[in-house]
Amino acid sequence: MKWIARTMTSIAENLGRVRERIAAAAERAGRDASSIKLVAVSKTCLVTAVWQAVIAGQSAFGENYVQEGIDKIEALRRLLEANHSVQSIEWHFIGPIQSNKTRAIASNFQWVHSVDRLKIAQRLNDARPDGMPPLEICIQVNISEEETKSGASVDELTALAMAIKQMPRLRLRGLMAIPRPTRDPQEQRRQFRAVRVLRDQQADRGIVLDTLSMGMTEDLEAAIAEGATMVRVGQAIFGPRPKARS
Ligand SMILES: *Cc1c(COP(=O)(O)O)cnc(C)c1O
Repeated sequence: MKWIARTMTSIAENLGRVRERIAAAAERAGRDASSIKLVAVSKTCLVTAVWQAVIAGQSAFGENYVQEGIDKIEALRRLLEANHSVQSIEWHFIGPIQSNKTRAIASNFQWVHSVDRLKIAQRLNDARPDGMPPLEICIQVNISEEETKSGASVDELTALAMAIKQMPRLRLRGLMAIPRPTRDPQEQRRQFRAVRVLRDQQADRGIVLDTLSMGMTEDLEAAIAEGATMVRVGQAIFGPRPKARS
């Protein structure tokens, strides 16, 4: 019990510290902190940890693995019901997408940040249930042009954005990027600036995007300085994760 109590307070405290970091970065950039949404990345976390974050007022969560995400979505739905809570939780899918998982993603999540090719967009559109609002979409862009990283290339971006704009069950909102990790704040900013420039270039072509999903535990300040409207933060809220799955 002692351990659980300690974990509970620390998640609330961690969330408070992340919100302070966001507010301070927004202020330095002359931006309104309310224009930046915090998505708490709960991959590999237990349901109890997510629940503690919900109690601390957090309402948007990001998941990377489909089945783990859906299990949590259902567990949290039951917890909200059991507590007669009127709170609602917004679920964001942020991980790599296999085409055989598109139906599960389209029926359970409100947002998908990691769309990087036409086939996936088409399948999400086809699978989005009629009774649900359109699925909110970010195109993941590969700004570092590393072959190992997922994301649409700069050359592919416009055609993909135009195609998604035509899909009735999807709503194109913006761009997502995971830059090459670096501790150098100037280099962090240079990479995030490249994403912002891509957003502005799309606007010149008539594709207006209101969302820049960029910035994580190590670099959220640089992302906010360059215009992030969503930061996806895991470890600063939930603590260190076990090594990533392969
Ligand atoms: C894990 C993950 C995050 C969160 O990273 P932290 O370093 O824990 O803040 C954000 N975005 C994506 C796509 C992730 O996979």
